[in-house]
Amino acid sequence: MKTTLGNKFLRHVASALALGALLPLASPVLADVNVYSYRQSYLIDPMFDAFTEKTGIKVNTVFAKKGLIERLANEGANSPADLLITSDIGRVLQGVEAGVTQPVESDQLNSVIPAEFRDAGNQWFGISARARLIVVAKDRVGEDEVTSYADLASPALKGRICTRSGKHDYMVALIASQLAHNGEEATTNWLNNLKSNLARKPQGNDRAQIKAISQGECDVAVVNSYYMGVMLSDSEQAPAAETVRIVFPDQDSNGTHMNVSGVSMTKSAPNKADALMLMEFLVSEDAQRLYADVNHEYPVRPDVKASERVASWGEFNYDSLSMTDIAAQRALASKLVDRVGYDN
Ligand code: FE
Repeated sequence: MKTTLGNKFLRHVASALALGALLPLASPVLADVNVYSYRQSYLIDPMFDAFTEKTGIKVNTVFAKKGLIERLANEGANSPADLLITSDIGRVLQGVEAGVTQPVESDQLNSVIPAEFRDAGNQWFGISARARLIVVAKDRVGEDEVTSYADLASPALKGRICTRSGKHDYMVALIASQLAHNGEEATTNWLNNLKSNLARKPQGNDRAQIKAISQGECDVAVVNSYYMGVMLSDSEQAPAAETVRIVFPDQDSNGTHMNVSGVSMTKSAPNKADALMLMEFLVSEDAQRLYADVNHEYPVRPDVKASERVASWGEFNYDSLSMTDIAAQRALASKLVDRVGYDN
């Protein structure tokens, strides 16, 4: 890996020098990689900085909460973007479905990322993973009271659950995984019962649910694992996070639902070789350790450990159904959210 990068870098320098000799005013010495990102800059800049330090290749980022796939589609062959980075499997697949990505052949990517976290057709690759945890009020929920996603539909939790909007990607993915395992009828009943257990209208982000538990508004919530890691590491937010206990759901059945942030190469990528190098860097041990230590995400590489804090929660079984199979249920999941009036 190091040799490949080194050689590539030398080739860059050589071609830059040759270009410079011919065109003294040529502006960029080294080609840049351009990234359209649905992930916020602070979550990925540390990895890009490390990549630039290692290779000399600059990474330019356009961050937006929405519209990047549409922008890629509109720009077509003229798009400057090389890579699309997303914070959720749903967005990853929207990019593929919109036809703005291209398959990438890479032994490196295929050998270090487990099959369930990447596309069999090489259109997208998971670069970090997170568990959809259940968190419960330490002082109001007994040890064995809530152990599964099915428990969220139990009459014992009437008026005690908080979640964000059912339309949010993270909730849609969780509902899609229930559909993939249990089918439409069972999942509709589950979602209906979960809705009737809500303490309040769905609102706020994942962290807001943890705060709501700390304030006694509800006793149970579902949140992505890294938010617990981030809150516990922040002196202002830690007191709220310390009022909840983490449950890894479904340990005796399907395993805990996972989601990934992913990367795809755009169909029109102008800097393919460098973009591939960045993709491979993102799953290198160095970058994976940054995902673990800075973001409290689970590395997708099984050989890189979670952060000390996240590792302290213990090992768990995760749902190894492929992300593609789960994501195939997304459209139906969104329909169910509307059908049961989850957000009303
Ligand atoms: Fe998030």
